[in-house]
Amino acid sequence: MKQYQFVVTEEKAFLKELEEFRQQWDTVPKMAFQILSDILEEDAIMNAGHVIEQVFPDVPWFGCSTGGSLVDCQLVPGISVVAIVFEKESSQFMVFQYDTHEKSMGWITQKITDETEKNPWVKAIELYYTFPEESTSRFCEGVQDIAPHIHIFGGVAGNDDSTSSTSYVFSKAGGYSDHAILAVFYGGDDFYVDSIKITGWKPLGKKFSVTKSDGSVLQELDGIPAYDIYNKYLNIENDENFFYNTLEFPLLYELNGVTILRTPMASNPDHSISVSADIEVGSTVRMTYGDPQTIIESVAEDSQKVGKFRPDVLHFFSCVARRSFWSSGEPTYELKPFKEIASSSGFFTLGEFLRGDGCLSLHNVTLVVAAMREGAAEQNEMQDVSEDNPASSKRTLVSRLATFISATSVELEEINNKLAIAAITDGLTGLYNRSETQRRIERNLEKVDTTPLSLVMLDIDNFKLVNDEYGHQEGDRVLTALAGILLKEQKRISGKISAGRWGGEEFMLVLANTDISTATLIADLIRQCFENTNFSTIPSQTISVGVTQATVKDTFDTLCTRVDTALYKAKKTGKNKVIVI
Ligand code: GH3
Ligand code: MG
Ligand code: MG
Repeated sequence: MKQYQFVVTEEKAFLKELEEFRQQWDTVPKMAFQILSDILEEDAIMNAGHVIEQVFPDVPWFGCSTGGSLVDCQLVPGISVVAIVFEKESSQFMVFQYDTHEKSMGWITQKITDETEKNPWVKAIELYYTFPEESTSRFCEGVQDIAPHIHIFGGVAGNDDSTSSTSYVFSKAGGYSDHAILAVFYGGDDFYVDSIKITGWKPLGKKFSVTKSDGSVLQELDGIPAYDIYNKYLNIENDENFFYNTLEFPLLYELNGVTILRTPMASNPDHSISVSADIEVGSTVRMTYGDPQTIIESVAEDSQKVGKFRPDVLHFFSCVARRSFWSSGEPTYELKPFKEIASSSGFFTLGEFLRGDGCLSLHNVTLVVAAMREGAAEQNEMQDVSEDNPASSKRTLVSRLATFISATSVELEEINNKLAIAAITDGLTGLYNRSETQRRIERNLEKVDTTPLSLVMLDIDNFKLVNDEYGHQEGDRVLTALAGILLKEQKRISGKISAGRWGGEEFMLVLANTDISTATLIADLIRQCFENTNFSTIPSQTISVGVTQATVKDTFDTLCTRVDTALYKAKKTGKNKVIVI
């Protein structure tokens, strides 16, 4: 593959340049023209297409409006045209433009899927997407069935005004549209492709759970308004600089095992945050940090992987947020390491598409790189760079502090989890403690009008004797043996039984959604099992058991008194038995 760049400042000059280019070839090679424009001028853009058609009537052209167009890692203002020339006979490509007003998303994704099935040579699909009128998740899910070896990458078209989301795609096939999806299919036996995403932003600190969100409005994290989290941890004010201040700290969230960045765009009066695209309730998010040095190192490291693929051509889809991030310096500064690798084209996007682990996702703040090559298969995937990366020995102070914060928050999370478990667990037996058992009885009692609830209370018979004759340690072994039986039962009917230690040698089973007959069966099984338990150093032991079922009239106290009475009856009438009231 080869890439040729044209200057389109003036129509006549462009035509002349194209004619000269045409003369280089005896016959027109297999090729396509990519048009990128950071200005939204329909006439000028379509005219560039028509000039191409004058010289190359059978060659497709396609492209989009951009938040900055990139040719060979340089920002090119205005309209730029790049010719992609295929050198291998076997290489193939095709361009389709789908109108999202005329066709449903289901129809479009089915059509794209069908094309890949009809054309088994397809190895990559490049997407140019006008600014989505609705969430892109339906599109992403819709192309899920496309054969997993096919790479999908691309970007949401943009424009030169950072406050506007108007964007266009255009092609010879579909014209100029602000509501369309352009798909370019590449492939063939000698065509090789790989695609990666690079961010350079690193996770920072603790994980939050998304407890409330509405599309791209992130309302609550861990039950706390999302803005308050930013304010608490990063001291970012709810003012006009919110976007720029949070740009260094976007959110990283996980969807289908893929990590995705989302940029906070604005903070709202209700302390929710509008983010760059959807974040789903139930997902886990973390803040990230991006400092120039860390990002540069990260991009440079990944560029080595790209270099090892030995691409002919690179296509970039880089978030406009990255352009803003580097704006004080040179917006293409981070792309420098790619210059040496291959010719390239691309643009600053309002969202980056990449398929990873079979799932297509819309990313933000991300640099998606597609590497394409024709020719012998030296290797078909980008390889990890094995040499020691010298950069890692001189990490920035920010990077070290972020590592420190992340490590301490992981430790705190582990301690918190342990404390939360300890707070509800009995130390000796591992069963629920009394307060947790009580909570579980009360919780189930609330819905007893619709779901039955039974209690089983157990007490070891003549346990004082065990302690007195064989010592406290032996006594403890008897307690843990009974607890073991109860835990096993809890595991067996998981979700229904909660086993708790009620007092010294008294235990309580809370049987949710269980009526008294089943509870009685379970109680007697446990009684038999304990009676048959062999202790090597002491004789077999027994328990007495009381069983009852809750009624709608019951309070916690009346219910517990009744089961206690049943147990007392079992004791009074000879022990080692189950009494039901
Ligand atoms: P009954 O058949 O009427 O239940 O007689 P019992 O001897 O089992 O009843 P009692 O309530 O008189 O004795 C309970 C004993 O349980 C008293 C106490 O020393 C012992 N105990 C309580 N907690 C523990 C413990 O954690 N470990 C040990 N080894 N013994 C305990
Ligand atoms: Mg006892
Ligand atoms: Mg007792």
